Amino acid sequence: MEDKQITAIVYSQCPVCAKKEAQAAISKQLKDISHMHNQVVESRICNSCEEMQKKGIVLVLVKDAKTEEDIKNPYRLGPIAVVTEEFITKIIANEALLQYILSTRVAFIPESAWKMIGMDEIFERAATEN
Ligand SMILES: [Zn+2]
Repeated sequence: MEDKQITAIVYSQCPVCAKKEAQAAISKQLKDISHMHNQVVESRICNSCEEMQKKGIVLVLVKDAKTEEDIKNPYRLGPIAVVTEEFITKIIANEALLQYILSTRVAFIPESAWKMIGMDEIFERAATEN
């Protein structure tokens, strides 16, 4: 039998920053994988987010959720910050939520909460100092 390879470009997507990384999917059987072309096929933390998670808890600024769908797939606004476990422990009162964040090392922070914990001021200060 002919050893035919079928290739599609597929993407992995970082669940933290939503960055997509292309990779080739190769089917060594004669299975058609063209439906996978240009699709996100796996969720994998990218190198830069993994590095940030080693340093602390990664906070990702997202749009305030208005629907259930927004909560499942938050709209990332861009800014990402790394804070210490102590900082998170101080600002999160809900013990179950705190333990969850400490184990996943990621928290999606809606705009309103981002302001409340002073992250917008920290970002503004950093922007004017540079
Ligand atoms: Zn990432």
